[in-house]
Amino acid sequence: MGIRRVIHVVTMVAVTLALVLTTAIPFASAKPHAGMSAEEYLRYRPNELGFVPVLMYHNIVAEDAYQDPRVDPFMYRTYDQFWNDMLWLYEHDFYLVGMNQVVSGTYDIPLGKHPIVFTFDDGSSLHFSAQLGDDGELIIDPNCAVGLMERFYEQYPDFGRGAHFGLVPWHKFSWPQFEEDDLFETKVQWLIDHNYEIGNHTLTHDDLTAIDLDEFARTISGPAIWADEFMGADHPMNATRVLTLPFGMYPTEEDQPERVDMLANGFDYDGYHMQLTGVLRLNGGSTRSMWSTNWNPFALPRIPVQDDVFDEFKSVVLEDPGRYYATDGDPETVTIPWPLSEGLTGTLNRDAIRDAGLDLVKYDPRDGHIYKPDRHHKMTRQPSSLDVRRYVHDC
Ligand SMILES: [Zn+2]
Repeated sequence: MGIRRVIHVVTMVAVTLALVLTTAIPFASAKPHAGMSAEEYLRYRPNELGFVPVLMYHNIVAEDAYQDPRVDPFMYRTYDQFWNDMLWLYEHDFYLVGMNQVVSGTYDIPLGKHPIVFTFDDGSSLHFSAQLGDDGELIIDPNCAVGLMERFYEQYPDFGRGAHFGLVPWHKFSWPQFEEDDLFETKVQWLIDHNYEIGNHTLTHDDLTAIDLDEFARTISGPAIWADEFMGADHPMNATRVLTLPFGMYPTEEDQPERVDMLANGFDYDGYHMQLTGVLRLNGGSTRSMWSTNWNPFALPRIPVQDDVFDEFKSVVLEDPGRYYATDGDPETVTIPWPLSEGLTGTLNRDAIRDAGLDLVKYDPRDGHIYKPDRHHKMTRQPSSLDVRRYVHDC
């Protein structure tokens, strides 16, 4: 099993890299790091070991909407709260990306910005509500999540555009009243045309630890089979290989090792091969960079947005902005400040960088001084099984 894991991870990294190298679009306002001056290092402060926050949202509601007191406060965010979340993040140099960028470790964002992901679970009409206009165009409710994000994008286009919708396909962006079922495919088409990702929150939203193995395989592969048919497996907005765990329930290695293995190493269902690239948890803080010793794509933490949690997140950002990811604009290098910010000390995975055939670039965040390059021979060394076990099991 150890060997198989190694092969899987190596293949995954190689495929991801190939994808990155062949499909990368030029960075909008990014310059390659080669020749970057000390002043530019200080201005853009690239940090490719930094954290990437993945925010979790559920219902976006009016101020006076009924909020069920029996559920967690992260289940609701009012229009104003959501707008203010975006404004604060924008003012603190965050920039919207999707989960496919996180799991591939490749960020198409302007220099100096910090990638952040908005995830919306379940696929309700509060996420995307619309009517069909006379000309067949979608008229989007300005107060649903998509409507609010689009209005924000109109005013602040340099916040980026996009989100990750962890869909339960049968909810059809029409749950719980199913009043907009007919618009489901039109909505999905609109989303993927406008840089919003379609993710995978299973076919049935069952607790993955409480169903039989066949149902486990069916419910996880279902959304991917549907999305591949709808938009093609290679569509950049097809993020159905990123699974959002229903209820956050994760099988344990002790009790259900076969399921843990399927999540990390893939499985076949009904003639269809399913290999996840990421698994999203319910909480746990910001996500690590793939160059961190704590990177584990199969247990990616999120930040459930509610007032006290978000306030805590903001105070961490203000205290230590240097802990967040910022790209160097060059897919061939991994650039980090040295010494590292306190929250990142001791997490640099040099082996992972070397195994990916990339060069490590270090600069001094105090004066922009560039250290002598750490050059590695490309692909000369395979990861040891110990490294790979760390990817799969630690979080
Ligand atoms: Zn859910």
